[in-house]
Amino acid sequence: MYYLCFSVVGAGSAGAVLASRLSEDPSLSVLLLEAGGSNENYFLSDIPLAAPELQRGDADWNFVSTPQKNAMTALVDNVNFMPSGRLLGGSSSINYMLYTRGSRHDYDQWAKEGCDGWSYKDVLPYFIKSEDNRVPWLQDSCKENHITCVQVFIKLAKHVSSSVFGERDYVYFYQLLHFAIICNRFEHATLTTKDGVRASTANAFLRKASQRPNVDISVNSHVTKVLIKNKSAYGVEFIRGARKHKVHARREVIVSTGSVNTPKILMLSGIGPKMHLKSLNIPLEADLPVGENLQNHVGAPLYFFPNISLTITPDKAGTIWNKFLYATSGKDLILKSTEKNQNGFTILVNLLHPKSIGSVTLQSKDPFDPPIMEPEFLADRQHVATLIKGVKRALELGNTDTFKNLGINLDDTYIKFPECVQFKIPSEEYLECYIRHYLLAMYHYSSTCRMGKTEDPTSVVDSKLRYHVQHIV
Ligand SMILES: Cc1cc2nc3c(=O)[nH]c(=O)nc-3n(C[C@H](O)[C@H](O)[C@H](O)COP(=O)(O)OP(=O)(O)OC[C@H]3O[C@@H](n4cnc5c(N)ncnc54)[C@H](O)[C@@H]3O)c2cc1C
Repeated sequence: MYYLCFSVVGAGSAGAVLASRLSEDPSLSVLLLEAGGSNENYFLSDIPLAAPELQRGDADWNFVSTPQKNAMTALVDNVNFMPSGRLLGGSSSINYMLYTRGSRHDYDQWAKEGCDGWSYKDVLPYFIKSEDNRVPWLQDSCKENHITCVQVFIKLAKHVSSSVFGERDYVYFYQLLHFAIICNRFEHATLTTKDGVRASTANAFLRKASQRPNVDISVNSHVTKVLIKNKSAYGVEFIRGARKHKVHARREVIVSTGSVNTPKILMLSGIGPKMHLKSLNIPLEADLPVGENLQNHVGAPLYFFPNISLTITPDKAGTIWNKFLYATSGKDLILKSTEKNQNGFTILVNLLHPKSIGSVTLQSKDPFDPPIMEPEFLADRQHVATLIKGVKRALELGNTDTFKNLGINLDDTYIKFPECVQFKIPSEEYLECYIRHYLLAMYHYSSTCRMGKTEDPTSVVDSKLRYHVQHIV
């Protein structure tokens, strides 16, 4: 038996940062348990352009969705692959590195609903503490508030527009931008990379934390359950190699294993929907809607093919010169493309507030069995209507002089999907058919342990992220 102050389960985006912050206090002892291996065993993880290579291997949990009834109909059996990182750094070691703080309105809404300490004003200092923004024109302006950030962006957009877009089109782009500003959901894309290398939470936080004597990082350690006594979590059980271990945490057990594995571990520990646990003969500790509110972003992709060399292609990126530049200067391959090849870019019309609610449930009591992921993609009719609206708006760009000058032919964009030939292009029926067939799932699973007031029957944890003990039966 092993005793310490904090046991942090899962060394991903959240867990690695938590273990690192806690261990800044030398009086605390922290054990970080990670089911996957060290990120240092996966050198491709450090190379931003190699991100897709990390999927479908042993750095990935390789989850799949259930067969979908309303979407993904172009996929075999309507089943969508759902990657999730399984190594130090978790999904931050395999993701596409786009960094965003999220919308301030979402945080403010949480606070309004009773989640004290989660307003944008409350969380901003923590973002700033973690950020090391190297974009010169964002460094000062974005620290305090989003609006100045947007103003800086407008300046930049004006500068770019005079060189890339015609004056007339700029008005159109400006209107789109203005709409985004009103919604306060506009950001210039920033990346979690440093000197051309992925800044996963393993690289950015754990490398330094692992030097401290008060933190232990145990990889290949699969946590099977949280140990609970008298309504309180006092430790965890995990399997490493062929051996089962137990650790006691004097202060707290923190389960940060992502939106799929967190509900799985809680349910295996007896915290979950009563009937579901009963059906698997798992003794109940707390009757809570764990896993019942799975939400995920989805998008409708539109592919454009300009006739000039504008964008990155695999051939361009893979030149010996580019590889040499990357190896010697750390410059990302994307920045220095030299050869001509087929060009293309995608506008992804993304649904930010999905109303289709799915679930994560257990298929068995075996902690090594993957859970059942039912995302219910496009189950809500309103989703499709919103996506159609967005696609139409994006396609209007094709009528601008800028797009015409790029040689973009909308006929190429409206790829004639054989599944949808019965509909007139581009009627709403056609767009709906294309969206349901070719929907892109992002991998931003969330909300399976919803935060809320104790009296809110849809919530699992309070605003301090402690599970609601009041629901214990
Ligand atoms: C392919 C991909 C691309 C993405 N692109 C972006 C992007 O560009 N921008 C963005 O903001 N977001 C992106 N995301 C989403 C983002 O990466 C995740 O939302 C975020 O990393 C989730 O953080 P987390 O700490 O909740 O979980 P994770 O980072 O997934 O960490 C969970 C950790 O817990 C470990 N674990 C799980 N079960 C156990 C167990 N039983 N015992 C011990 N350890 C366990 C896992 O191995 C993992 O290391 C992407 C995700 C994926 C998969």
